[in-house]
Amino acid sequence: MNIFNNIGSDSINNKRLIVILFLTIFAVSLFGLTKTYESRLISKNNIEVMTNYGLFKNVLGFKKENRERYIRYYEKNQNLNHEDIVTHVNIGLDYGFYNYIRNCDISKDILILVNKYSKLDKNYVPNDLEEINSKYFIYGNQNKRMLKKEAKNAFERLSEASIKNRTPVYGQSAYRSYESQDILYKNEVKNDGSEKADSDVARPGHSEHQTGLTIDVSSNKTGNMLDFQNTDSFKWMQNNAYKYGFILRYPRGKESVHGYIYESWHYRYVGIKVARDMHDNYSNLTFDEYYYRFIEK
Ligand SMILES: [Zn+2]
Repeated sequence: MNIFNNIGSDSINNKRLIVILFLTIFAVSLFGLTKTYESRLISKNNIEVMTNYGLFKNVLGFKKENRERYIRYYEKNQNLNHEDIVTHVNIGLDYGFYNYIRNCDISKDILILVNKYSKLDKNYVPNDLEEINSKYFIYGNQNKRMLKKEAKNAFERLSEASIKNRTPVYGQSAYRSYESQDILYKNEVKNDGSEKADSDVARPGHSEHQTGLTIDVSSNKTGNMLDFQNTDSFKWMQNNAYKYGFILRYPRGKESVHGYIYESWHYRYVGIKVARDMHDNYSNLTFDEYYYRFIEK
């Protein structure tokens, strides 16, 4: 009796397997057909038809006014998925760095986005800057030792924990005013030319350091920002920075999105909730991308 029961359930399982197999094949070919249809429309450069076709409209962050830009960007970047297309265009990547500049939404507070498309006013100064305790900062550099109060407290806790773990993380450069960024940028241009300057240093108004939420770090008290990635302190930061609300702002492999060289030393305070979410669930996104998917609206 048992034998027959087993045979019966085996054949049901087989049928199920066949149905699942057919459904999978059906879904894959449907996806293929959709892709081909999109490609055909693109090859005809038929923006109007594609707009009506409703592409991208169910994608997170979709904006009706950007529909044509999504399609034009997709024409040139068919290797990207729909989510990336929408996010990149919302950032402004289809225009290129510094070609689609808007004012920062300062009401976002600790989640403010500053990049090569979002600019802070010349007169913007954070309202609650406080000096970081010298125990947690490299020697000298007193004029760059300020952060917004919440970020400052978080950084001091982070630094204290890192010192206890014998993988110290000290602040090297925190708040910078519009004017000091202006001087820094002009010096870079003078020394290296504007192309190199733009990949290394933000133009005035476009620096996160002006928010008072950003800090460059070092693993010793004399300052070694550029070597930071080779230290155990950096490894510690990779596993622990988010617990204190900090994220690595300019990760490797994402240069075309954030627009800078990879900076292992530059950290941005976004609060523990967002830092943890980015660490746990969206480690492939830069803050620019995360912002347009989850924060902007
Ligand atoms: Zn920096």
